[in-house]
Amino acid sequence: MRGIVYKAQGDMQVEEVADPSIQDPGDAIVKVTKASICGSDLHIYNHGEAFGFECGCRVGHEFVGVVEEVGADVGTVGVGDKVLAPFWISCGSCHFCQKGLQTSCVKGGCFGFQPMFPGGGEGNAEAVQGGQSQYVRVPMAAGTLDRIPESLADDSNDMKTLPLTDVFGTGYHAAKCSNVQGGSNVVVIGDGAVGLCGAQAARALGAETVTVLGHHDDRLQIAKQMGATHVVNTKTSDNAGELVKELSGGVGPDSVIAAISSADSMKWAMDNVQPGGAIGWVGMEVLLGGPEIPWDQAFFGNVTLAGGVAPVKGYLPELWEMLKAGKIDPSPVLTHDLAMDEAASGYEVMASREEGSVKVAISPQS
Ligand SMILES: [Zn+2]
Ligand SMILES: [Zn+2]
Repeated sequence: MRGIVYKAQGDMQVEEVADPSIQDPGDAIVKVTKASICGSDLHIYNHGEAFGFECGCRVGHEFVGVVEEVGADVGTVGVGDKVLAPFWISCGSCHFCQKGLQTSCVKGGCFGFQPMFPGGGEGNAEAVQGGQSQYVRVPMAAGTLDRIPESLADDSNDMKTLPLTDVFGTGYHAAKCSNVQGGSNVVVIGDGAVGLCGAQAARALGAETVTVLGHHDDRLQIAKQMGATHVVNTKTSDNAGELVKELSGGVGPDSVIAAISSADSMKWAMDNVQPGGAIGWVGMEVLLGGPEIPWDQAFFGNVTLAGGVAPVKGYLPELWEMLKAGKIDPSPVLTHDLAMDEAASGYEVMASREEGSVKVAISPQS
């Protein structure tokens, strides 16, 4: 079968790789019908060695597909089921899985990140593979996989369901962490896929205004399509602070979704959120030298800071209901859909921020 492998910094390629097989009775093999490239994959593309990636490492942690084979202990899904794998592998039974924090699963790991998060139990490190391929071995399939509801199971819905593997779940996590409720005034910092999904999540949770701050007019157009009530290109306009103050009756937003979480964006969030408000931070920039938190502002303003890696699996039951009811549709973030032969070029499209691009989907079977 074919899959995308990391070759060197700035070089991803589609290659023949080993067919996956059941190695543990808890495994399932999934035939991938649609996968996608993530902003976090770009960190591998740009700085792979810094994260321990070597030539030949498999990549990809966002995929939906059909169960092809199951080990004897799986039980929860069967051959032929249409399934979604959240990016984090989880056992489903440990303390943290039981409380809905599957990203802290004691046996957990992440698809396509095996040098950092092998997961899947001892001895399985090399076998936890990338999702940007035709087939994937899913360890601890009973805990990890979610069956896609019948009404969304047809392949024609893959572009709607696929963002729930990560970016929509992450945007939703930020909205929950920043305490978005009915009537909230919300600001989203960042117009990448997570920011756009965060805006839609905030509207789905009842936010009255959602203002997206970004740098790209094409993406801000998509933000509007996904429910943002206001958008500001902060490269060409410096009125974002005034606008969000005005929208909130002069007091500042209730909630800030920090989709990038860079030093500048966290400072902006802290300077503008209203006292008693909350900042939901989910951006990976914090891993590249974190922002300094102005604890005095947090203290005197009683500002809540909450966030981190999204436990997507725990949110899926409510997200399936929203998707079925048409309250959310994250498919506009997938601006491209590439056949397997061209899939590696998706990294260039995303890394160069090509006009009109947000996120690239891959069709591994075509
Ligand atoms: Zn991702
Ligand atoms: Zn667990």
